[in-house]
Amino acid sequence: MKTLIDKLRRQTFLTKEEYVTLIDHRTPALADYLFEQSREVRHHYYGHDVYVRGLIEFTNYCKNDCRYCGIRCGNHQVQRYRLTEDEILSCCDNGYALGFRTFVLQGGEDPYFTEERIVSLIRRIKQGYPDCALTLSIGEKTRDEYQAYFNAGADRYLLRHETANDAHYRYLHPPTLSSANRKRCLRDLKAIGFQTGCGFMVGSPGQTTECLAEDMLFVKELQPQMVGIGPFIAQHDTPFRDQPNGTMELTLFMLGLLRLTLPKVLLPSTTALGTIHPLGREKGILAGANVVMPNLSPVSVRDKYLLYDNKICTGDEAAECRNCLSLRMKSIGYTVVVSRGDYPADTPERNETT
Ligand code: SAM
Repeated sequence: MKTLIDKLRRQTFLTKEEYVTLIDHRTPALADYLFEQSREVRHHYYGHDVYVRGLIEFTNYCKNDCRYCGIRCGNHQVQRYRLTEDEILSCCDNGYALGFRTFVLQGGEDPYFTEERIVSLIRRIKQGYPDCALTLSIGEKTRDEYQAYFNAGADRYLLRHETANDAHYRYLHPPTLSSANRKRCLRDLKAIGFQTGCGFMVGSPGQTTECLAEDMLFVKELQPQMVGIGPFIAQHDTPFRDQPNGTMELTLFMLGLLRLTLPKVLLPSTTALGTIHPLGREKGILAGANVVMPNLSPVSVRDKYLLYDNKICTGDEAAECRNCLSLRMKSIGYTVVVSRGDYPADTPERNETT
């Protein structure tokens, strides 16, 4: 199996069968070997720096009914909220003072936030914080809408593809949503010029090793600048309430494989990983991740953006989250930096064969 990891590191891709073999035959010793490799690659491009993104969860209204998600429209237990433009700006203010240079606006697919409202928000944030990057994570839109956001100044867009396998996608989503449209969105975003992020849940109901291998082939083909992955965690008011959670162990292994497959990728160690294990985010960094995304949303709404059960950091102030993460990173020899943390487009790829 080690030779497959060596091959992946050398050529940065494997066949679907090879990914399946590696994932199915993983052992703790093989994982340790993988993480040695993935850390070396990560250190080559990013040293021991960790980039932070301030996450602003600005609405939990959603018109979609994804079967895994706690804020799906079919969940009537959710107390819905949306932040005003001023409230969002005040989150940015707070974040800027704490050293954040990237803001991520994430929300459900909320029809209240029309193209016009989002464009106005982007303009205000970019005017107020011209040295910061702005990331949107607001779901599936038309190409024209994405173009309008880009023209208004948004820099990056996160849209997890969730699973690259069509049948699995249909199992996780209502019939109104399709894998083809999700992938269309991602291709449009890249073509427009956004630094684009895709990603998937690990251990989502119905996921097989083949699905994970297809995810790897999809990211290799799309060449996103970011990939967000985290374990699936059941939410008690969704149809998947009784499904087992994804594991930290497999999530870490997938992080290692992603680092070798896309050496320069921006790879978050996610809140979901920190939720299934108290040291999940530290372990994610040690598996090759290089980004953390603390919460900047007002404390008063944090316990309403519950995509899954037991989400961490719902009671903390932004400053506490920032300091806590800095200390956590320091404890494993890494440093949270004040930087936009852009994708290193001009860094030459390492060529190990010469
Ligand atoms: N509406 C936007 C979208 O669909 O891209 C952004 C918000 S959506 C809630 C953000 C991500 O949360 C999804 O892409 C999904 O992967 C993740 N998520 C939702 N429910 C989850 C769960 N039960 N466990 C883990 N992750 C979950």
